[in-house]
Amino acid sequence: MSPIVSGSSDRPGNPDRASTPDTSSARPAGSDAPLSPLPPAVVDTSVDDRRTAGLTIGVDVGGTKVAAGVVDGAGTVLASIRRPTPGHSAAEVADTIAAVVAELCADYEVKAVGIGAAGWIDADRSRVLFAPNLAWRDEPLRDEVSGRVGLPVVVENDANAMAWAEYRFGAGRGRRDLVCLTVGTGIGSGIVLGGELYRGAFGIGAETGHMRMVPGGHLCGCGNRGCWEQYASGRALVRAAREIAAMDPSAAAAMLEACGGDAERLTGPDVTEAARKGDPAAIRCLTEIGHWLGEGMASLTAILDPDRFVVGGGVSDSGELLLGPARERFAETVPARAHRPQAEVVIAELGSQAGLVGAADLARI
Ligand SMILES: [Zn+2]
Repeated sequence: MSPIVSGSSDRPGNPDRASTPDTSSARPAGSDAPLSPLPPAVVDTSVDDRRTAGLTIGVDVGGTKVAAGVVDGAGTVLASIRRPTPGHSAAEVADTIAAVVAELCADYEVKAVGIGAAGWIDADRSRVLFAPNLAWRDEPLRDEVSGRVGLPVVVENDANAMAWAEYRFGAGRGRRDLVCLTVGTGIGSGIVLGGELYRGAFGIGAETGHMRMVPGGHLCGCGNRGCWEQYASGRALVRAAREIAAMDPSAAAAMLEACGGDAERLTGPDVTEAARKGDPAAIRCLTEIGHWLGEGMASLTAILDPDRFVVGGGVSDSGELLLGPARERFAETVPARAHRPQAEVVIAELGSQAGLVGAADLARI
């Protein structure tokens, strides 16, 4: 059951995804201890039992765009539209969400609306407590939008919505315990445990990107130092590339060529592109990021013991250049590694529409 995306062309093509190996239960080098097989995939019917039938709308609200789509019960996007996120006024954002919902409702009969928002959401799925890139501060978004559109509305964290979409319809399908990591500028994450989205007591759990990895390390936007996302993200990738450019410009020549020779203009996609062409320095940067990613996954495994990590986000466009080193370090650092089954590490399948597909599906339950 794979979602068919129609009415939109913004799903990124990614040749690496097609060739991603389905299994990666790497065992430590040199270990000949037997590992138990991974638990078999199961079809989760408990969610189906309590779902609202019919069509729902998912809205993915980020710092720069509002993407919305009509989604059916199989995760198929029937129509989608996007608008720029307006300014910094909470009322304007609510107006924009209401406008895209009204536009989609003109052609489809819709039962409910799910909003995936880039912020911290309360346990009632109604208020945005804080959004680093938007004007929301304790914003009653559910009621603001519901009052405008006349439909039931739920609000979810955007990374939680993406994780739910991958669990229901994507790379986490059939796995009841998984961690979905969206590796972009930072790390967004969502956790599904026992087939349920894990939100924590106050609704703001699963922020794994702010797990502290390096005491006294790089300063993070959350106010702490040494958070995981400072070491395993697009920002970290660019930092690693600039360090090479500063120390040895000739080694960074291929990456610098992509940005006109100005290291300050270097982007994550520039590094990925150079790595794909075989540039050793760019490959080294992605290897470093991948190692940090695997290191954090090993710590998460000590707590959660998931059977799959699903990795999406812009940096995951580098495919195995990132995931290979991540699996390697994960296998080297996961606790009791010779004596346990190990989680698979796979690339996300749903691309940029995961947020709206997940939000739409979460509006059903
Ligand atoms: Zn942080």
